[in-house]
Amino acid sequence: LSVWLKTPSLLETRAYVNGQWIESGRKFDVTDPATGRLVAQVSDFDVATTANAIDAAQAAGPAWAALTGKERSTILRRWHDLLIENADDLATILTAEMGKPWAEARGEILYGASFIEWFAEEAKRVYGDVIPGHQRDKRIMVLKQPVGVVGSITPWNFPNAMIARKVAPALAAGCTFVARPAELTPLSALAMAVLAERAGVPAGVFNVIPSTDASGVGQELCTNPKVRKITFTGSTRVGRILMEQAAGTIKKMSLELGGNAPFIVFDDADLDQAIEGAMIAKFRNNGQTCVCANRIYVQDSVYDAFAAKLADKVQTLQVGNGFDQDVTTGPLINDAALRKVEAHISDAVGKGAKILTGGARSDLGGTFFTPTVLRDVNQHMVVCHEETFGPLAALVRFETEDEVIAMANDSDFGLAAYFYARDLSRVWRVAEALESGMVGINTGLISTEVAPFGGIKQSGLGREGSKYGIEDFLEIKNICLGGM
Ligand code: ADP
Repeated sequence: LSVWLKTPSLLETRAYVNGQWIESGRKFDVTDPATGRLVAQVSDFDVATTANAIDAAQAAGPAWAALTGKERSTILRRWHDLLIENADDLATILTAEMGKPWAEARGEILYGASFIEWFAEEAKRVYGDVIPGHQRDKRIMVLKQPVGVVGSITPWNFPNAMIARKVAPALAAGCTFVARPAELTPLSALAMAVLAERAGVPAGVFNVIPSTDASGVGQELCTNPKVRKITFTGSTRVGRILMEQAAGTIKKMSLELGGNAPFIVFDDADLDQAIEGAMIAKFRNNGQTCVCANRIYVQDSVYDAFAAKLADKVQTLQVGNGFDQDVTTGPLINDAALRKVEAHISDAVGKGAKILTGGARSDLGGTFFTPTVLRDVNQHMVVCHEETFGPLAALVRFETEDEVIAMANDSDFGLAAYFYARDLSRVWRVAEALESGMVGINTGLISTEVAPFGGIKQSGLGREGSKYGIEDFLEIKNICLGGM
């Protein structure tokens, strides 16, 4: 892989702790999901090294927090610029370990960098308040201060951006950070650390621990009293475990958990736009995003037309190795992911759904799967209740607005929802009625650094991005001045 990189030193396989690159005797393999080939052997670290990183982060905290917002901003801005300058190499590393098409990987690098830029700007705007006193001799001030050491656990589907969305507001606020990237995709995280070091992020402020011991490192982060906050993106199942573990030391939690996004097409929608939106909301990242449309509800009178058009469009997707030009759809991350898509399809077909296109593994073998459209899906099928995390568009027919809102909200999850409609009063009614943290109206793409990202119900706690995103990393202090 390093021969493909303009800057081979970005391919780092050691841990980054307290400003030092450290190697372990134990290694684990990172493989390319498109080929199964070895990409790199990465140092495997344990709980003791995690504890050392937490100590380093705690020691580095006061000096980092004491910098002015502008000083932290300057360093973050340099980091952003280096991420942009090295976007091609970072995309190559990302595609090699995760499989998404190279252009999409490059898009992720820019998206991740946009959070570093945004929070570099926000670092200067952590404002407090002055509150008129409740007694004549009193004045009240509100200060915002960094939470302290942050422990981060992130998944493989966005190996760069999930870390960027967390570390940027944390460092901007004056917190220090210990990251445990997913073991399938540690290289993107380590490359970020290489550039953080070059940008002048001081030793101990950003630490990265590659480890195959997810539960051990997770437990250390969640139970070590020096860690004041956990930020996690991943499944609701693991989110619950972390919340329980963190209860002992009452840590703050930000959790970006599973979703099961409804995507609703009303009869007054622009159908072509709705198809475009569905393609992005469903098939981006091969369906492996937590905001992917999972259940597509289409109103009766436009159902057949929508189904036929979507199936046509899905047949234009090019499945293949993410490094090949024109490929739009890479492999799934592993066999378990492949089996989940198959299970959702066979459950639906067994209960009466019909395959319009796809429905089977690709001839390419490995974990490649043919993008699939199913019609005649209903609420009794597993796909309407569980996140597929794969290239399966499941089309459910509905008659009325009330009916579809009830179906859309019939979920433990509440991350993203999408709908297409033109009638203005319907647009307001439906946007207000949907139980989710984010609603895309006449668009299939809602993620940006300028808007708050996050869910309600069992999809999580807290928000990433936007002016709200930094609040998750700040404590509010009330200063009451008396005797005036
Ligand atoms: P996904 O299905 O997206 O991989 P997971 O919740 O299983 O979602 O994984 C998200 C991240 O959490 C990964 O980095 C994984 O290694 C890590 N993880 C899995 N189990 C645990 C655990 N018990 N404690 C801490 N981290 C965990």
